[in-house]
Amino acid sequence: MPRESAAARRERARRIDAALAAAYPDAACALHHRSAFQLLVATILSAQCTDKKVNEVTPALFQRFPDASVLAQADPAEVERLIQPTGFFRQKTRSLLAVAHDLVERFGGRVPRTLEELTTLHGVGRKTANVVLGNAFDVPGLTVDTHMTRVNRRLGLTAHEDPAKIERDLMELIPEAHWTLYSHRVIHHGRVCCDARRPQCERCPLRALCPWPASAARRASDSAARRRPARGAKPVAAPARGPRSARGRRA
Ligand code: SF4
Repeated sequence: MPRESAAARRERARRIDAALAAAYPDAACALHHRSAFQLLVATILSAQCTDKKVNEVTPALFQRFPDASVLAQADPAEVERLIQPTGFFRQKTRSLLAVAHDLVERFGGRVPRTLEELTTLHGVGRKTANVVLGNAFDVPGLTVDTHMTRVNRRLGLTAHEDPAKIERDLMELIPEAHWTLYSHRVIHHGRVCCDARRPQCERCPLRALCPWPASAARRASDSAARRRPARGAKPVAAPARGPRSARGRRA
């Protein structure tokens, strides 16, 4: 396959972005929240857990602990009990309390508005920071999770596995104003169509722009060819079974 020029890839990315917008016009942050603090907490809880499950536990959690200063004083056992259905609840409780302490001690109880400050909070990485920036503060951010990684790799918009490098590649290809919505749409597309095990390429709105189906077909035909014996090659004889040795016989 001929190498794609940088200009051609940018143009293809622009068309992918437009096709995603047409296919998923309503894609948005699935975590229910009313403030940056609530979104930060919900995003921490969403690690290794579905957004639906997080949305089931957060109403009671936010009612009991409405802001960072109340959460910082919480009894860990009470927080653990409230968030238990999200899994890894002891570890998540430690993270939530540490973040609440950080917010109170260093930011007057408010969630900071920059990537640099957000990523200084206990256990907050670029992914969580970009979710908060993009959805609570309207600061464009690319959220590179497992769906963003898989789908963008299949689309040939990045060759990397490292989220920071994927983010850098996409920053070159997707207009900054679209970063947050592009992330929501790709994540939604990864959930409903570009499945990890069985991507549904035949009904995919990006099919004409995606190199994956052709390369998957090529890989399948290459591996079938490797399994076929070459013409004229002698079949490999099965090893003859000799008489069982005296040692092998049962007494
Ligand atoms: S064509 Fe297939 S691999 Fe490409 S984005 Fe669509 S579902 Fe994913």
